[in-house]
Amino acid sequence: MEYAALVDVYRCLETTASTNEKTAVLADCFAAASEGQLPLVATLVRGTVFPAWDSRELGVSSSLTREAIRKATGVDDDQIGEWWRERGDLGDAAALAVENRSQQTLFSESLTVELVHETLTELAGYTGEGSQSRRVDAVAKLLTSADPDEARYVVRTVVGAMRLGIGEGTVRDAVAAAFLDGSDEAVSAVERAHQLTNDFRVVAETARDEGIEGLRALDVELFRPLKVMLAQKAESVGDALAEVGGGANEEGEPSVTTETAVRCEYKYDGLRTQIHKRGDEVRLFTRRLEDVTEQFPELVSDVRNHVSADDCILESETVGYSPETNRPVPFQELSRRIKRENRIEELVESVPVVTHLFDALYVDGESLLDAPLRTRVERLGDCVDDGADVLEPATAIAVEDETEAREFYETALSNGHEGIMVKNLDAAYQPGSRVGYMLKVKPVMEPLDLVVVGAKWSEGRKSEFLGRLHLACRDEESGDLCDVGWLFSGLTDEQLAEMTHRLEPLVAERRGREVRVRPEVVVEAEYEEIQRSTESESGYALRFPRFARFRDDLSPDEVDPLSKVERLYDDQ
Ligand code: AMP
Repeated sequence: MEYAALVDVYRCLETTASTNEKTAVLADCFAAASEGQLPLVATLVRGTVFPAWDSRELGVSSSLTREAIRKATGVDDDQIGEWWRERGDLGDAAALAVENRSQQTLFSESLTVELVHETLTELAGYTGEGSQSRRVDAVAKLLTSADPDEARYVVRTVVGAMRLGIGEGTVRDAVAAAFLDGSDEAVSAVERAHQLTNDFRVVAETARDEGIEGLRALDVELFRPLKVMLAQKAESVGDALAEVGGGANEEGEPSVTTETAVRCEYKYDGLRTQIHKRGDEVRLFTRRLEDVTEQFPELVSDVRNHVSADDCILESETVGYSPETNRPVPFQELSRRIKRENRIEELVESVPVVTHLFDALYVDGESLLDAPLRTRVERLGDCVDDGADVLEPATAIAVEDETEAREFYETALSNGHEGIMVKNLDAAYQPGSRVGYMLKVKPVMEPLDLVVVGAKWSEGRKSEFLGRLHLACRDEESGDLCDVGWLFSGLTDEQLAEMTHRLEPLVAERRGREVRVRPEVVVEAEYEEIQRSTESESGYALRFPRFARFRDDLSPDEVDPLSKVERLYDDQ
């Protein structure tokens, strides 16, 4: 397939704001792709060559990309920089450079989707000495063969900034329309298949080749992380018990009518850890599907030695504990371990962890997703022995009444934990969904998880920092981000420096002292009130917002939805 044909699709997607039209364009593109092209196109339309679960990165920074543009076109770096600043997009700058190229190439091959995909996949594997210049050469080679439009999208893919507004929801609907009948039933089947596999290549090919039944038959697979089940918040222990209730209907949905026990567990403030094990091979994934195996060697060793199941996928929360007080440390402390790439052993000593197990999704060849929680926790208990150092079951009780649950909640808080989770023992596991089968209860006013979409340089003493943050939530209908105003306070000097360090490489556009950034940094914001606002895209603005913490465990796709902002506004 000519890359130019995919560029036509990109252009259509870019020029239409309508989600329905975007879906139709994508569906046509999927339906027209040949057998071998579909998996390539299914990821490239979202501006990546890897499925969501694959943590490989291309490793080409904006400055290496500039270098590649210069090499391919002969246009000097200052001019490229100027176009980049003017247009706010390195892809546009590349298109201009190709248009104005001073170097004519004699033998340039025409770009195909296969060639672009293969080149970019190879890039991610370059390591060691000389890998930077090999990356530059590989990108330059693609640009040498590109026309201006092709160059624009090659560069946007390389730097990870496609700006096409294609969320997972749009790809899901397009797959359902291209290969199934586009009905709600088809959309849910595609959605579930994606929550399980995190791989649109597999989902699109299965929908095409095996239809809806094939999608339904897809199951968990070891070493391919699935999206975790999410929790809704309850206002009080009593509300949580009333809502979770007990019992379930035949579809595994909870019903509040049956009076069976409810399971309460401590809610730990740490890192959700999905443990995959086959024999001695162990991998650990976060809820953002990142592979953190190297960061927790003591946990890997415990899983090898104390989990008796040969094959399994277990769910847990990994918490940092203070060696002095033995109480949980704030998530920021633990995140030092997540970020550290070398000398990890030092942090094993200074930030020791305990991994609290709370679910089993797959044990010895059997998927447990559809099994009730009571069976899953039983299987979990059976496959872990007592002698482990850092692996232990989550503290839990089956409660019959509210008084018992309240006491448990008070104990959780006094032991330094965040609150409790209240879970329906009869409910199935729903990957990626925030369903009413598990509810969290915690005491603070509910903060919002938002993504930084822009920033301003601070004033006065802190003027070298990007300290004023433009924050956005997600409109779940369109998949677009929409802003909820600016945050100015709550960052310590250290956090200001960290924020600036993180945002600078993401700058997509500059206007005076203000920048627009690629939406990648997720923060938790506290605030006093939510107000109506005509100035923000969401229609709401946070009053006195304060930075609470970085949420490195959340991806930009997981920031809070607009509907939550609306609900919180209504509830205040
Ligand atoms: P929140 O991040 O506030 O939405 O709370 C949900 C998170 O709590 C989950 O994603 C888990 O990482 C974490 N968590 C802590 N303890 C538990 C538990 N016992 N069961 C399930 N999730 C837990």
